[in-house]
Amino acid sequence: MARPIRVAAIIKVTENCNYNCDFCFYAKKHYDWKKTMTIDMCKDIIRKTSDYNYANGVKKSNIIFHGGEPLIRGVDFFQEMMDFEQEIMTEYPDRTFDNTIQTNASLVDSNWIAFFKKYNFNVGISLDGDGELNYHYATENDENNIEHIISVYHSMDDAGINVGILSVITEKHSKDTERFYDFIVNNGIKKIAILPCINDISNYTIKVQALSNFMTELFDLYFYGTYRVTIREFTNVIERALGYTQVRSCANCGRMSCGTFLTYDSQGNIFFCDKAYDKERIIANISQVNIEDIFDNPKYCKERSQCMNFYNTTCLNCPIKNLCNGSCYRNDVIIASGEITNRFCDVYKIVYPYIEEAVKKLKENS
Ligand code: SF4
Ligand code: SF4
Ligand code: SF4
Repeated sequence: MARPIRVAAIIKVTENCNYNCDFCFYAKKHYDWKKTMTIDMCKDIIRKTSDYNYANGVKKSNIIFHGGEPLIRGVDFFQEMMDFEQEIMTEYPDRTFDNTIQTNASLVDSNWIAFFKKYNFNVGISLDGDGELNYHYATENDENNIEHIISVYHSMDDAGINVGILSVITEKHSKDTERFYDFIVNNGIKKIAILPCINDISNYTIKVQALSNFMTELFDLYFYGTYRVTIREFTNVIERALGYTQVRSCANCGRMSCGTFLTYDSQGNIFFCDKAYDKERIIANISQVNIEDIFDNPKYCKERSQCMNFYNTTCLNCPIKNLCNGSCYRNDVIIASGEITNRFCDVYKIVYPYIEEAVKKLKENS
């Protein structure tokens, strides 16, 4: 199997979290993984990622710090990682790093903001909306501090940090799309990504009809409204409808990025993209392999083949392939017949042509 030229590391520096969201695999203890990564292991992943990329002529490595809630490791942990990256860059002056963090932002204060600014972090803030829509801190540690998180978002934006909101969309959202849109507008959010909730164990996976309704209604509010916001999933489709083929984010990337994102749980177990909640899917452990070993590993090859086979057999024959481009492998699921399907195809087949039509009409009238 051809090896990717570059890899990105999604590092779960801890699986612990100060919240207890209803749909969370970790908070609901579906897995006994509430653990913390050692400093040496985190450095090992950063070093091996950079070495692999550099050996392929890629100077910049993307490091994505994830959890659980990564900030509970404290700023000293991240300072140590930044110092370590600096050591690598001193040793190899043409290497660089692009650091991202996904956080619930509850622990962010002015020190964290200064830190993220200094090291040019991209920051994703997990927030699902307000009131009933928000699952964060729903059941424990309920400080109802949405105001704090929104003020963190604005402080970061004002400081010039690349920051966006990531919202997990559940059935509740589909019943109150307007509230979700008002949440965006009333809080002055400029950049947001929407991620359909998938959690079959707790029965939280959003249903096809609910997601279709939500996306169609949200699109109308967004496209015909006067408030300017980037909603990643719509921007991707609008660009495709306008004939642009350049992909700006990995969701709906046509599976071109699938297999290049490697997730490491707190114990160093390696997973294909971020399906890091299923022990059956562990490929290997970073303490025992180098990155190049991963691509010959039968479990990696099986995931990659599954991912691309669906694209080559189903997506290439799909009437909306130019708009959807294969969606995201995370949404693939094995159905009763044993076949693999993408659980949200029926959503895309409704929503994406609807977006295309709206774009077409706008073009005709302008
Ligand atoms: S904030 Fe994230 S990691 Fe923490 S409980 Fe909620 S979904 Fe899980
Ligand atoms: S599985 Fe989804 S999130 Fe992961 S690289 Fe592929 S498209 Fe991106
Ligand atoms: S709708 Fe489904 S089959 Fe069609 S391109 Fe998207 S993921 Fe592939």
